[in-house]
Amino acid sequence: MTRIVLASSNRGKLAEFNDLFADIDLEAVTQGSLGVADAEETGLTFVENALLKARNAAAATGLPALGDDSGLCVDYLRGAPGLYSARYAGEHGDVPANNAKLLRELEGVPETRRGAFFICVLALVRHADDPAPLIAEGRWHGRVLTAPRGERGFGYDPLFLPHGHESSAAELEPAVKNRLSHRGQALAALRTRLAEWHRDRT
Ligand code: IMP
Repeated sequence: MTRIVLASSNRGKLAEFNDLFADIDLEAVTQGSLGVADAEETGLTFVENALLKARNAAAATGLPALGDDSGLCVDYLRGAPGLYSARYAGEHGDVPANNAKLLRELEGVPETRRGAFFICVLALVRHADDPAPLIAEGRWHGRVLTAPRGERGFGYDPLFLPHGHESSAAELEPAVKNRLSHRGQALAALRTRLAEWHRDRT
C-alpha cells in the first residue's frame, strides 16, 4: 500500500480521495494529521497553487503528495473571483459576503454576459522536486444567476446555473453535482492517470 499525503486538512476531501483510491492500493492521509503547516498560496494560477501545496507537503513528509486548488472564474470579471474565491469579500470563508459581492459586481449585467466556470486542479508530485507531476483539471461551465437559488452544496453554488440544467448547483442532488462538477471531472481524470502511474511503477 502506497501512502499519499493530501495537502489539505479537510476531512471531507480525505473521504472523497480515499474512495477514489480504494481499488488502486493507495491510501491518502491529510497533511494536518502529520503536522504539516499550510503552504503559502503565492501562485498566479490554480495549477501553480495546487503544485505549491503538493510540493510543500512532499518536502515536509518525504511522501508523494496531492495538492488541489479550485474556484469560480467569471468571464465579465476577467476571471475574478478566481484564486481569491474563498476570500473575495475580504475574510476567508465568508460565504454570504462573497456571494453578495459577486451579485453586486454583476448588477445590471445581462444574462448573455454572465458566463462563468468552476475550475479544480489536482497536482500529484512523487517527491518535493518532481519535475513531472501528474496534473488533472476539471471545468464546469454555466452562468451566474441574479439571485440565490437552493440550499445544498456550499460557496457559490446557489448563484451558479450549470449549462444545460434548470437547477442551480445548490438545487442539484449531491450525487449529480459530484458527477458533473469541476471536482468530479478532475477526480475522474486523476483516477485514470493515477492508475497508469501506479501500474507502471509496481
Ligand atoms: P478551495 O479550493 O477548497 O480552497 O476552494 C476555493 C473556493 O472556491 C471555495 O471556498 C469556494 O468559494 C469556491 N468553490 C470551489 N469549489 C466550489 C463548488 O463546488 N461550489 C461552490 N463554490 C466552490
